Amino acid sequence: MVIPPQNDVDVHANDLNFVAIAENGQLVGFNVLVGGGLAMTHGDKSTYPRKASDFGFIALQDTLALAEAVITTQRDWGNRVNRKNAKTKYTLERVGVDNFKAEVEKRANVTFGESRPYEFTGRGDRFGWVEGIDGKYHLTVFIENGRILDYPGKTLKTGCAEIAKIHKGDFRMTANQNLIIAGVAPEDKAKIEALAKEHGLIAPSVSNQRLDSMACVALPTCPLAMAEAERYLPDAVTELEGILDKHGLANDSIIFRVTGCPNGCGRAMLAEVGLVGKGPGKYNFHLGGNREGTRIPKMYKENISEQEIMAELDALIGQWAAERTEGEAFGDFVIRAGVVKPVIDSARDFYE
Ligand code: SF4
Repeated sequence: MVIPPQNDVDVHANDLNFVAIAENGQLVGFNVLVGGGLAMTHGDKSTYPRKASDFGFIALQDTLALAEAVITTQRDWGNRVNRKNAKTKYTLERVGVDNFKAEVEKRANVTFGESRPYEFTGRGDRFGWVEGIDGKYHLTVFIENGRILDYPGKTLKTGCAEIAKIHKGDFRMTANQNLIIAGVAPEDKAKIEALAKEHGLIAPSVSNQRLDSMACVALPTCPLAMAEAERYLPDAVTELEGILDKHGLANDSIIFRVTGCPNGCGRAMLAEVGLVGKGPGKYNFHLGGNREGTRIPKMYKENISEQEIMAELDALIGQWAAERTEGEAFGDFVIRAGVVKPVIDSARDFYE
């Protein structure tokens, strides 16, 4: 479920999504998006990343019936013969979006309305303190790669343990691998903030580029990994920061994601620059996603090394710095400049 304008859970990565629609400050229902998914298999063009299809609006009271109908339709209609084509996204393409939707309406006894207008303006987490409607406070902190460990000069794990001793609310992990210390009473705010600072949970300065970068775990944790991701990311971001700085764009950023294999857990297939592991030190290099997470990027170069990727980025970012229109994001620029074609309907144009 997502509350616009922040697409902070990356709805197009998921099979079933609810976009919250509010009127006069009250939740009235959801736009339902079905059939997103980012996994594919190298060399198998019957697999591809896909954005979710917008089925339309439902009222709040129909939510559970609708969710059950989507799940049972996929259960009954999904491909149980070929595991690589089992996901809902392939069922939609095989039976047709309209047919799937009509079956869901029949099973749920619900008719979808016109989708209600909404806008996504970004995907990152809202770092720092936010006050909730119940008067409690929530502190979001950046955790590089989502690893809460004790590092030299940055005792994140000990810090969390110390905060837990006095914190009466929750710890929530975000879909962007960060941490929310949630439900803090006003009287505990200063103490928790002091502990978070003392243990490096509130870092003095993290670049926009680092905040907008993410990787899956890959090696050594994941046996499916073909290339490094989590262990490569910090150094890759440092290089990228240097390239942005060199071209006068130190305060800009690119949604940059690395995933160790085409299963796509690092959600590189919704990034402006997405790297998909191909072999040790080698990646397929994708360009042209957008900042809102509503466009799949296209393969630009196949099976290239880390050095070649950074050289390509240096040239492209230089071009972006020189030719961008006011505020134009990198992913939009590479499409306007004709570096890659946009992916509009990935079942048909992802491999074009
Ligand atoms: S994308 Fe591949 S390597 Fe990365 S965590 Fe998922 S399965 Fe493992």
